Amino acid sequence: MLTQAPKGTQDMLPQESHRWQRIERSMRKICALAGYREIRTPIFEHTELFQRGVGDTTDVVQKEMYTFEDKGNRSITLKPEGTAGAVRAFIESHMYADALPCKLYYAACPCFRYEKPQSGRLRQFHQNGVEVFGAKDASVDAEIIKLAMDVLNANGIDGLKLNINSIGCPTCRKAYLDKLRDYLRPKLPGLCKTCQERFERNPMRILDCKEDAAKLTDAPAMLDNLCEDCATHFEKLKGYLAAMALDYQIDPRIVRGLDYYTKTVFEIITDTPEGDALTVCGGGRYDGLVEALGGPATPGIGWGMGIERMLMVQDMRGTAPEAPGYLDTFVVTLGDEARIAGVKLVNDLRAVGVKADLDHAARSMKAQFKYAGKLGVKNVIVIAGDELQKGVVKLRDMVNSTEREIPANEVVELFANS
Ligand code: ATP
Ligand code: MG
Repeated sequence: MLTQAPKGTQDMLPQESHRWQRIERSMRKICALAGYREIRTPIFEHTELFQRGVGDTTDVVQKEMYTFEDKGNRSITLKPEGTAGAVRAFIESHMYADALPCKLYYAACPCFRYEKPQSGRLRQFHQNGVEVFGAKDASVDAEIIKLAMDVLNANGIDGLKLNINSIGCPTCRKAYLDKLRDYLRPKLPGLCKTCQERFERNPMRILDCKEDAAKLTDAPAMLDNLCEDCATHFEKLKGYLAAMALDYQIDPRIVRGLDYYTKTVFEIITDTPEGDALTVCGGGRYDGLVEALGGPATPGIGWGMGIERMLMVQDMRGTAPEAPGYLDTFVVTLGDEARIAGVKLVNDLRAVGVKADLDHAARSMKAQFKYAGKLGVKNVIVIAGDELQKGVVKLRDMVNSTEREIPANEVVELFANS
């Protein structure tokens, strides 16, 4: 127990951390280029926020939330996704009164869902995400999709499928849901229990059911029943995606099925070697959400991207980046006086941006060389009594096993410029 992480959690170990750092770095850079700024919201929120914001007919709220009572008898939930917290912060800090649109991103945000742990499905996972408030034109739908693609491509995750759909708005969806219920009603006894429960409150989700979807391929599609406003929005989106040369497929099966999710929905998926579809990124428009959570009517749109799934795809494709070099140099010392000089030298090297270290384990000189070799350091600096007197240090090329002397006062400059 004590030496085992809880089920569904993973350590980010030092040999892997550079992969996370690269993902986060590219996320920050790509978002900043498009005028997005970072937001970090708390790891936990009032449970009600997610019940209302994610929707109490969703799997996330019904089955997957980490909910507990705190010592003040408040119901608290660890965030299962990033949107609800961002919307809450947008309202609470009156960001709606600032210049809109308000473009936000978060990088490697921890999310918690009580799911059955399996490949690509963790209980603590991490998401990159963007949220935009106050932009109703489809150009922003296209923009955030392009940002997601750019972040994925920057991390060697290409060849993914982009699927888009429109789930309309409360106006056109009402008539569509009646149509859908008429279609589903006679089939209901043959559908699973969850689908039967969803029939009244969230029938669109039935089309998404892993068990039943295959039986419902001739169901009416929301896409064929859009009002003029939603249809125009979708056409514009397609035009903007084409303008950026982004390939996409229309998949009328992508649904969300909550009132405040509107118009555009999309997912970016790939196939696993086992042939399953793996969703790396999913998102959509939520024009009704800010108002539903008590803010002024403000359109919104965003996506969430699973970082562990990005790493999975990198591993599948063999595109995981190589670890950067550990240290640029290692300073081997002999004797107390040389050690003092070594401490100073390492400090001077670091000050000019050279990754440097020296022995902290009171090792013999031979063991220090061995250690530097293990770390893969190519150029070792040797400071010993004799050389110290002469004002020189030795530079040892660990690859060719050659050594040369250089003046001690030139060594920092030498490494700084290499
Ligand atoms: P799925 O269909 O795989 O359950 P979802 O619809 O629940 O995904 P979203 O709520 O849209 O996913 O979350 C956005 C992204 O977060 C997903 O596309 C995925 O990459 C990642 N994600 C979601 N749940 C998990 C999890 N339990 N473990 C790891 N990553 C996850
Ligand atoms: Mg899920």
